[in-house]
Amino acid sequence: MRFDLQSMIPEHISELTPYSSARSEFEGSGSVFLDANELPDAFPGMPPGVNRYPGKEPQEFREKLSAVKEVEQDSILLGNGSDEIIDLIMRCFCRPGKDQVMVFPPTFGIYAVRARVNNLEVIPVNLDEKFQINPDEALKSATPDTRLMFVCHPNNPTGNVQTKETIIRLLENFNGIVVVDEAYIDFCPEKSLLPLLSDYPNLVVLQTFSKALGLAGARIGAAYASREIIEVMRKITFPYNLGTPAIRLAEKALDSYAIYRMNVKRIVDSREYLAGVIRELPLTETVYPSDANFLLVKTRKTDDLYNHLARNGIIVRNRSREPGCSGCLRITVGTAEENRRLLDAWDAYDPATREKGDTAATALAGQAETAGQIKRNDTGSQTEVRQATVRRQTSETDITLRINLEGSGYADIRTGIPFFDHMLEQIARHGMMDLEVDASGDLEVDPHHTIEDTAISLGRALREALGDKKGIERYGFELPMDESRARVLTDLGGRSYLKWDVPLSGAQIGTVPAPLFKHFFRSFSESAACNLHIEASGEDDHHMIEAVFKAFARALKMAVARNNTDAMPSTKGML
Ligand code: PMP
Repeated sequence: MRFDLQSMIPEHISELTPYSSARSEFEGSGSVFLDANELPDAFPGMPPGVNRYPGKEPQEFREKLSAVKEVEQDSILLGNGSDEIIDLIMRCFCRPGKDQVMVFPPTFGIYAVRARVNNLEVIPVNLDEKFQINPDEALKSATPDTRLMFVCHPNNPTGNVQTKETIIRLLENFNGIVVVDEAYIDFCPEKSLLPLLSDYPNLVVLQTFSKALGLAGARIGAAYASREIIEVMRKITFPYNLGTPAIRLAEKALDSYAIYRMNVKRIVDSREYLAGVIRELPLTETVYPSDANFLLVKTRKTDDLYNHLARNGIIVRNRSREPGCSGCLRITVGTAEENRRLLDAWDAYDPATREKGDTAATALAGQAETAGQIKRNDTGSQTEVRQATVRRQTSETDITLRINLEGSGYADIRTGIPFFDHMLEQIARHGMMDLEVDASGDLEVDPHHTIEDTAISLGRALREALGDKKGIERYGFELPMDESRARVLTDLGGRSYLKWDVPLSGAQIGTVPAPLFKHFFRSFSESAACNLHIEASGEDDHHMIEAVFKAFARALKMAVARNNTDAMPSTKGML
């Protein structure tokens, strides 16, 4: 079927002369702006420039997004959340009171609501029992006045994706625009349809900064489509639909790739772990497979359970009134702490679980092998998870580091220095903490800055994760031995000091110059504010340094261990 965009544009839109704002009218470089009735200065303490209207869809941000997404700038439209863009597409391509919009329930409710607001008829074509679109039925149900189809991929609230073949069938056979809403695509990026953009003139892909990019409060969404479609949509956008502070935040998020990657991995790992735990609970009927950051769970006492969780302050979404979702709760994957609170409250609700005495969650305790998963002890109770993420950017390095002191020895280390990676892994494994490091540094010069800044970041993250240090053991030591021996004493009391007695004989270990190891621990002790006394002896430098890192890990593990008190481990009353 040949898609004809022109025939899709209602007359009142094609004839429209767009509003010309002050900022879009003037081209060139002015220095005195008296054209937009703004206040000449921002209030003290406000972000610089907020007294000015933003340029229409600020250029720099669009350039950045275009590079990241590998989509031409002319094919990108930004909106105040994808919610705004959903509404905008309808206003742009549908005649009120005449045209129709197709949706595939159970799905994101905004599509139908905005259609009604715009006086458009909604044609629902329900998903099948596996939450898949039946393309034959969809195409059969479309009329010449059906202008848009909204495919949610992955789908909210079911969490699953559609097959590429199904979406292509719709694109090739529907004489209208197929809007593929990829709000959750960051959790399964390989399934994005963005690469199909140049093949299908009737494809619009929506993405958002609200989910994996952590900016739901900033309200930023994007539409990707052919230049022609975007041009029509741009005609009707509000002149300044994105605020300057929001744009700055979005730029920062795009720039924080390592944190984004770590977050996605942690959420996906936690989702699978949570799914495994919930699946075993007696009240659970089905946990549907999910490619998103939430789970759809069918339970036997949904309304009751929902109310019970809410009474305990745990808010999930009751989707049991949606077609095909009877008995279903939609549960967002939270932090390890939040997930555990959910499970604890669920346990408390379900006497069958409690009486069995071996809650599914407890039965699965100890299986938490990847970062950020829920660890529960024998009684199911837990204290707060101590974790921190830090990012340190200098002209020489860019380090993102996440530490979780309640971890299980998970390590994902990328510094570009293999031997150093191996040593940092020792800290995670032998310290029984999760450690993720993504460091890019000027290795073309030498490893110095990368090693130093990683140490500083590790120290900072440890300090942050420890918080007020109440209830910790504070000191630690260890004496692991092979042909080498190492002893590491530490005091997390707040004062920095390094005593180093490690007689290395060679000039370098792996690709790392030997003096950098002392430098690593000095930088760490300064940044973590801790005493470190490190001694080692042996014949093989590699063994000696490895023993030092292992002993350091053990010492840290002992020092950060909790002693089940709320006491400050100092007679000073503070550390
Ligand atoms: N699409 C889907 C499928 C969603 O679930 C949501 C938010 N719940 C949105 C779009 C809205 O995204 P935004 O915050 O960008 O408006």
